[in-house]
Amino acid sequence: MTQAVLASVLSALEILVLEHQTKQSFKVIGQIPSWYQSLVRSEPFDPATIQITNTFPFLTYFLEDALQFWQVRQSSLIKSGLWIEVDESGTEIPLEALAINIVDRKILLISLSQTTYTEKSVLIQQGRENALAQSAERKRAAEQLRHSIFYDWLTELPNQSFIRLRLVDALAQVQEDSTYSFALLYIDIKHFKAINTRLGLWAGDQLLMQVAQRLSDQIRSEDIAARFGGDDFVVLLKPIDGEQETRQVTDRIRRQLLAPYLIHSQEIRIQLDMGIAMGTALYQQPEDVIRDACTALEYAKGAGAGDYAIFHQTMHLQSLTRMQLEHDLSRAIWQDELRVCYQPIISLADGSLQAFEALVRWQHPTLGLLSPDQFIAIAEDSGLIIPIGAWILREACRQIQSWRERVNVPLTMHVNLSAKQLDQLDLFKSIQAILAETHLEPAGLKLEITESMVFNNLEYAAAVLRQIKSLGIQLSMDDFGTGYASLSYLHQLPIDNLKIDRSFVETINTSGAESEIIQAVIQLAHSLQIDVVAEGVETVEQAYHLKTLGCEYAQGYLFSRPVEASEVEKFLDRNYSPLLEATWI
Ligand code: C2E
Ligand code: MG
Ligand code: MG
Repeated sequence: MTQAVLASVLSALEILVLEHQTKQSFKVIGQIPSWYQSLVRSEPFDPATIQITNTFPFLTYFLEDALQFWQVRQSSLIKSGLWIEVDESGTEIPLEALAINIVDRKILLISLSQTTYTEKSVLIQQGRENALAQSAERKRAAEQLRHSIFYDWLTELPNQSFIRLRLVDALAQVQEDSTYSFALLYIDIKHFKAINTRLGLWAGDQLLMQVAQRLSDQIRSEDIAARFGGDDFVVLLKPIDGEQETRQVTDRIRRQLLAPYLIHSQEIRIQLDMGIAMGTALYQQPEDVIRDACTALEYAKGAGAGDYAIFHQTMHLQSLTRMQLEHDLSRAIWQDELRVCYQPIISLADGSLQAFEALVRWQHPTLGLLSPDQFIAIAEDSGLIIPIGAWILREACRQIQSWRERVNVPLTMHVNLSAKQLDQLDLFKSIQAILAETHLEPAGLKLEITESMVFNNLEYAAAVLRQIKSLGIQLSMDDFGTGYASLSYLHQLPIDNLKIDRSFVETINTSGAESEIIQAVIQLAHSLQIDVVAEGVETVEQAYHLKTLGCEYAQGYLFSRPVEASEVEKFLDRNYSPLLEATWI
């Protein structure tokens, strides 16, 4: 559409700008358009404010929806929708279009045709009709406008507005025929922002287009795949024969989407979170189905399995708790509720104390002591992991420096790094500043990363890790074997140390049977000059067998649970090594 045509279409519009005030009310900014007054149901009304409850359904529909997204995403968002009428020939004609644009608590409503829900014929203005329908170019412009309202410009897939209308149809069908059923799949690409930052926006766009293409290839002709915005996609499966078939289709779609992508001649892998809502006659509104699919998605994210979940009523409550926790967590640092515990890492050769791993805990004012599994994922999703991660790192560096001075032994401190921190642009500077501030020499710090953090773009991760290593800091691969179990990439990363996950150590049973996997991992690590820590060592037998397999270090309840710094000081004083040697001889 040329600028001139766009301008002529837009100049025929009256625009209503609203500012979000309280939960359900908006202040009208600037001029009040004539069509707006006809939207408000109750009389008398205050023309300067809008209550979303006293407006006609479609206004409420858009505002509530926009608010819901706004609250969930906390970010600016552009949404649009279309009121549709079908003429005698069966073609859909746009009668009423609204665009809602939320920026800085402002909502912009644009009425394209000035028709109202009830009084279309009275309010249609000749000029507006002309603008949209008369001249050929304007007709085309209107068509393009319609396309832009219903289709995503980048992927050419249908967009939110389109899927909403189709959901209305699907819900009507479920109401009519109790044997009919449908499912809505909500798909979110994990760490998509990282792809944009690492490879550039162009690569991000390419990825979205390829995802869209794979989705289109996978679905049946009756289904609809749509881009919901950003890195979110939805698929409407209709009809579908209950949960079992839904799972089969979802598994197939997942498999296709997870296969590697080739962008810029680089291989990119993605991870997905997916939430599913099964369409039932209990649903009244498309929003409710979308909301439940999103709740299931949040649930799947929280489960951390990179998997999918089908919505269930109990998830509502859980998502409320999660929102509350996120709110509380934002204050936890300042209210001094976070604690760092330390778990010793022992040399299997002589039982001496070598290092500690810093493990965070949250003393919640009402819920009690929370473990990292209960809040790290929330911290990652909300971005709070950046300040929290920096706080933990500072605390751990300060602590190990004081213990090193006290025992005069070069103990090291392992600190877990989150994927979000690895993508943080100033991570390098932030680590450098903390080392300087705490006077810890870099060799006293070992950062733990996991396979899932590096595998979606090995080259980028390797570059960041090399930069960190150039400071003299050591790197450790945590939870080894639980992720993608690919031994092949290890040599591409500047890793000093590898931690065999507890699930493998558990396989060393009491009769002393050796685990071949552990043996293979240790051999491979050694061939790459990487030393090995076994995690979760709980029995003397496990420690003994690990030692005979050549594993250098061990960490686990056999030696100590993670404890507060004041407890650690007791074993620093007590001279820990003789006690340990006695446990397996
Ligand atoms: P991880 O880094 O693999 O830490 C080891 C986990 O195993 C710790 O759980 C530890 O308490 C537990 N563990 C150690 N020895 C044994 C044992 O003998 N038996 C059993 N059953 N468990 C043992 P924790 O402290 O609950 O931490 C869980 C995970 O949370 C950590 O796994 C790490 O991924 C994450 N995490 C902990 N602290 C931090 C942190 O400061 N930052 C970040 N980003 N993540 C953290
Ligand atoms: Mg760890
Ligand atoms: Mg671990």
